[in-house]
Amino acid sequence: MIEFRGERPEHRRNHESTKITGTILLLFFLWLAFTASDAGRATYIESEPMREPSGLVLLVVDGLGSSYVYPEHRPYALDGSPLEGAVLFNLSGSGARVVDLQVPVPETTKSHSILVTGRADVEPEHPGRTVFDAAREEGYLCLGVLQRGDAMPVLQEMDAVLYLDDNSLHGAEPIPGYRAGAAVDLLNPIFQKWRDAFGSYTDEPGVPGYIEYNAWALDAAADVVSRLHGQRFLMLVNAGGADSAGQDLGADGYREVVSALDEPLGKLAEACRRNHVLLVVTADHGMVFPGKEGKGGHSAEKYADRLEARRVPLVFLGPGVEELNLGGSWSQMDIAPTLLSLLNISASLTGNGREMPVAESFQLAVSGAPEDLTLWQGEERLAEGSAGQCIFWGLSRGAYVLRAGEKQWTVSVNGDTAVDLGRPGLGKGWKRIVGVVLILIINLVGMAAIVRTWRKD
Ligand SMILES: [Zn+2]
Repeated sequence: MIEFRGERPEHRRNHESTKITGTILLLFFLWLAFTASDAGRATYIESEPMREPSGLVLLVVDGLGSSYVYPEHRPYALDGSPLEGAVLFNLSGSGARVVDLQVPVPETTKSHSILVTGRADVEPEHPGRTVFDAAREEGYLCLGVLQRGDAMPVLQEMDAVLYLDDNSLHGAEPIPGYRAGAAVDLLNPIFQKWRDAFGSYTDEPGVPGYIEYNAWALDAAADVVSRLHGQRFLMLVNAGGADSAGQDLGADGYREVVSALDEPLGKLAEACRRNHVLLVVTADHGMVFPGKEGKGGHSAEKYADRLEARRVPLVFLGPGVEELNLGGSWSQMDIAPTLLSLLNISASLTGNGREMPVAESFQLAVSGAPEDLTLWQGEERLAEGSAGQCIFWGLSRGAYVLRAGEKQWTVSVNGDTAVDLGRPGLGKGWKRIVGVVLILIINLVGMAAIVRTWRKD
């Protein structure tokens, strides 16, 4: 952020008016900076500091079907009996929630590979390019706290990982693994601590053992998040207790274990919120039960086509996302490109998933712009463009009008949007990119930062 260098209040009684003067000065400086014709500079002052979280935790709750935890859905057993769901306030209470998201293959290893690549045809043993490759290219540390589900090639993508190599709830020992590099010094003490804590989390038999097995993964993740100050990271976490409970205990035990996720999920969400980290919660598949009694499954033929197996939650909690329930039909393949977009990582993947419009602000890229282009919303003139190509950053969802002389174009922004105003004689590509960011100044986050800096002065 630009630092405040305006006048400082001399007297308390003048505080308010000085504050307003200061704000006007600041807004003027921001306006100057953002409308400067220097393309490089304008592009530099984009909405990134507000839009981009400092890290992302991707939590995969193994076997958590959204049929059981979304207020919109109801779970049924194969024999038609209605089953009881669970209320996870920390999952469905806030954030951007995708109501209908299905996995192409309701099977653990395959599903994890699709999740991190965005490709339904991925081979788990040869996943190819993943979100971790893209994130590392932009300086992110890639971490994992993994109870199951990830093939060795995915583990090898991580800079540091704490993982269990078998699925037993009791007596297993988590294994820390590292790539050579700085991550070892930073993470080894944390991973040692959580490796040692695993036994005490999972010493109880029965349902509490499954509950605490999940809690271990979420608590460890929360601890890692709170110790990574300033380090950009992408962390994959998977918790296996619900899947095991479904397969071992049947519908009632599954519901109990799922219900108990709310508390550790709240702690993890709070750690992420405090550290400006985006938390994304999803699952690799759901769970199907033969009836009110009987053990569950998901990948066998009789289960695999059921909504209870295919439909999984997807919730984005934290900085950069809007509070909304996203309608429409979405696929797990859409998650990977959406994560990269929310982190402002421009490196792309090879899948053909669609970005989900869950961000709180978007960009509007205009090509073939005439000389006197302006951007309007209703009667309010928001920004001036520049001839050729320009990008308006930080736009909230809604309808806008581009005007130039007598001409006008209506544009609906619901995700990053590109329009070509079709002016002949302009070259292709983005040779001159000029960001125009007046919208920023009405952004509450920006205002809060300004006022804070100023109070510090
Ligand atoms: Zn699974």
